[in-house]
Amino acid sequence: MACHDACTAAAAVSAVSRRGMVAGLASSTAVLSAGLSAIRRAHAATAVSADDEGFMRLAIEEARHGDFPFGAVIVRDGQVVARGRNLGRTNGDPTAHGEMVAIRRCLADRGSAALRGSTLYTSGEPCAMCMGAILWSRIGRLVFAASVHELAAKIDQIMITSGEIAAKAPFVPITITGGVLADEAMQLFGR
Ligand SMILES: [Zn+2]
Repeated sequence: MACHDACTAAAAVSAVSRRGMVAGLASSTAVLSAGLSAIRRAHAATAVSADDEGFMRLAIEEARHGDFPFGAVIVRDGQVVARGRNLGRTNGDPTAHGEMVAIRRCLADRGSAALRGSTLYTSGEPCAMCMGAILWSRIGRLVFAASVHELAAKIDQIMITSGEIAAKAPFVPITITGGVLADEAMQLFGR
């Protein structure tokens, strides 16, 4: 796999507002402490955009119908280009996480160029597998709702944050925003 880009790492993290403030701050604190070196080199941290909550609601709606309550959407130029939900049981595929399903659908429908620089919204912070796929796909921005640490209270998690993984891949520029509608994503586990 070629990885010769001489890009500066940009694992920027920002917390969010409103109902998710406490959870967002908690999760971003964890990411910040883990990925501090990357953040020092980071581009300006991305604020939560006006559209972020709207796209996150679509990801959470996908999660609502998943085998496990995880969902994702990929957005490019303000348009949803792919959706995914956890299909682990349905497909008999333990790698069919919401993010992986969305990435594979985007690849099948539009090719890898559509992923480059896109934004992926996911109801749960990506695991190590999905975060690797996100980085190799050159997705430019990651927005997640519930953090790995929040999710771990409900379901098994590989205890490494997306910020930690991004910090280990300084050749991939990506910005990360955590905690968007985290409370709503976590409510899916209370069903
Ligand atoms: Zn995953």
